Amino acid sequence: MKLLQGKSGAEPGPKRLTREEVLTWLKEEEEWKLSFLWQEADKVRREHVGDEVHLRGLIELSSYCRRDCLYCGIRGSRKIERYRMSEDEVMDCVRTAQKLEYGTVVLQSGEDLGLTTGFIASLIRRIKTETPLAVTLSLGERGLDELREWRAAGADRNLLKHETSDPELFRRIHPQNGDSKGPKIGDSPPEARIGRSPVQSPFSARGALPGFANPRVELLKYARGLGFEIGSGVMVGIPGQTYQSLADDIKLFRELDLEMIGCGPFVPHPDTPLGQPEGRMQKTEGRSQKSGAAESQVPATDVMTTKVVALTRLACPDANIPSTTALATVNKEHGRELGLERGANVWMPNLTPLKYRAMYEIYPGKAKAIDTAEQFHQNLLATLERIGRVPGKGPGGRKEVI
Ligand code: SAM
Repeated sequence: MKLLQGKSGAEPGPKRLTREEVLTWLKEEEEWKLSFLWQEADKVRREHVGDEVHLRGLIELSSYCRRDCLYCGIRGSRKIERYRMSEDEVMDCVRTAQKLEYGTVVLQSGEDLGLTTGFIASLIRRIKTETPLAVTLSLGERGLDELREWRAAGADRNLLKHETSDPELFRRIHPQNGDSKGPKIGDSPPEARIGRSPVQSPFSARGALPGFANPRVELLKYARGLGFEIGSGVMVGIPGQTYQSLADDIKLFRELDLEMIGCGPFVPHPDTPLGQPEGRMQKTEGRSQKSGAAESQVPATDVMTTKVVALTRLACPDANIPSTTALATVNKEHGRELGLERGANVWMPNLTPLKYRAMYEIYPGKAKAIDTAEQFHQNLLATLERIGRVPGKGPGGRKEVI
């Protein structure tokens, strides 16, 4: 397939795709042509990160959230029953991760200030002293001092999806962003880097990142400067998303030199503004930033999502890329395998106690799990065996390449 053929003598690694080529692949619908993309992504995955599938145990600590993201089932304004786990409850989940030989636990939650800086720091210290596990934080947009304290406590990774690189769309779907209690006056960032170049400080005298289109990207750069491995990602098919902006997302993944990249389909939640047919209609017509011309909406399908996974693997060959639960939700039968066969090398099994799962329903179908962590693990091992892959050993951080 011409678009995937590298020139002889070119730089090592997969052929670098141009923006136009990425766009062509994103719009490609012929299954026989796409099979070349799947094969190439699988080959690059095997050559760069091998056949191991790293297992990261997901612990959803709290469903409280101060944000009101237009797409999310646990958005703050929803009147739903909420929970926050105790340290001992979290540690029980951590022990399960250890017993099942996972290499990492991911501490995820709504943006909940009730999870105080000290609580999270103490939890990290306990996990790091009592287990060999790597700790990933996925707690939303938290403060710079907090990130610094959590890094000092031993946290290894920070995961914060930038969701979309289209600044206008980002603003529309994150209405309360101006209220961020994130970066603030007096917080002086360390020398952050994107790729190899130092970046200018994003922090203004007023503290709430005005002028920075996507505060999540700035927080990621800051976390990188503190020594965290950093992870981002997008929702594929979020209403208003254009092919152009999705190509920009893939470009941004590479520019940020991310260690982890999570791309799942947008799954409409009926009790959110973007889950309503009229909400979706209003946001559906994307506009190209550059030309101003109306563009078509990216579909939130399994095929579209795996195109993004595959192209991300080609753009970022060494990254850790999960086959997401959202993908397994839109294609219940084969979604997980499709992700793993089209570029992904990470699986994030859910360790949250069953009694809390229904209260962390960010989209429908996600929380219906009835399997305990142990039962789920048996199915996971069978799936990996069926597709010729093996569970990863150890924390599964970024491999150092020379
Ligand atoms: N509060 C943290 C944050 O915002 O990063 C972590 C929790 S948040 C629920 C985790 C991820 O869920 C988000 O980054 C978003 O991509 C995803 N998500 C939320 N609602 C979704 C939906 N309706 N469909 C697909 N993914 C969704």
